[in-house]
Amino acid sequence: MSPESTPLPPVLLDVPLGEWPSMIGVSGAEIYRVRQLQDWFFQRRIKSFDEITVWPAALRRACAEKLTLRSLVPDGQVASAEDGTVRFTYKTRDGLLFPSVFLHPPQGGDPVDPDEDEVPGGRSSLCLSTQVGCAWGCSFCASGRVPFKRDLTQTEIVEQIFWAEELTGRRLQSILFMGMGEPLANYENVVRALQWIRGSEGLHYGLRHVTVSTTGLVPQIQQLSKGAPAVNLAISLHAADDETRKKIMPRSARWTIKEVLKAAWDYQVKTRGSRLTFEYVMLDGINDSQRNAQRLSNFLRHRKCWVNLIVYNPVPGLPFQPSTEEKVKKFSDILSERGIWTRVRRPLGKDIGAGCGQLSV
Ligand code: SF4
Repeated sequence: MSPESTPLPPVLLDVPLGEWPSMIGVSGAEIYRVRQLQDWFFQRRIKSFDEITVWPAALRRACAEKLTLRSLVPDGQVASAEDGTVRFTYKTRDGLLFPSVFLHPPQGGDPVDPDEDEVPGGRSSLCLSTQVGCAWGCSFCASGRVPFKRDLTQTEIVEQIFWAEELTGRRLQSILFMGMGEPLANYENVVRALQWIRGSEGLHYGLRHVTVSTTGLVPQIQQLSKGAPAVNLAISLHAADDETRKKIMPRSARWTIKEVLKAAWDYQVKTRGSRLTFEYVMLDGINDSQRNAQRLSNFLRHRKCWVNLIVYNPVPGLPFQPSTEEKVKKFSDILSERGIWTRVRRPLGKDIGAGCGQLSV
């Protein structure tokens, strides 16, 4: 077998926890080694088995021969001069590049998540990617112009958290599945990643701190409510009528707004305590009229949900412009007057191509 065709060793986090004992070759009285590995991996963030100094050398060597601990290599980072945003690029083991975005808004600025508790030194969040490229083709989005290469694995998703904390020296308070890709189109890997992120055997993030976004894949939203770790859901609606949605989100619009909303309300009922947010990017002359605001409020009034009105980041080569300040304010006022919790989200990381809808590689 040529060196090029030698298969890469499996990555630890791709192996289900129940298979760790056989994978590392321990059983019986030695089973406590699994807990040690969990501790050294998730708490101490080791990158090689050699670092587990409480293990005998033979066990470290044997594990290093059949398993690897990390699957991504950082491949550059750029920090915003305007706010605390850092955009990282990672390279996968098969040589693909994708971004993720660290958000650390200046204190007193627009918070990423106003529901979060105050943290000394400010809150940090990670907007992580779930696919390399995106096949969903939302017409305003830079990621939708990056050809889809493949889904990220559960390890590649979780590892973005490790690297962001290591490269910035900060603890993350919120994990947002809002980077490149449609998370629910990579359903299996996203759910497995959530198990590591939410589970007590992994990173143990609370429900309030993990949000998965989707453009509204109804079957997957339904599936998510049955057995996956509960998360906050952020649904990118971006239109108040199906015709407009078809124009700007042609693939996701195969499900009508009513179908998406029904799945969202059902999800909320089944996962008590999860927060539901609707994302609405304000596109000048496309979806920002007062009539649009009234229609949207008719769908959402008397429901427990948030609306994020996102100020659009223009993408070079795309024919969309942000709505004017006045239109955004009017739109926001109409929703608020009808009792809908609404906030206007200013883009972070605009100067480094890291704002919402700007991500490419
Ligand atoms: S908005 Fe999300 S689903 Fe749509 S193209 Fe961009 S990354 Fe893909």
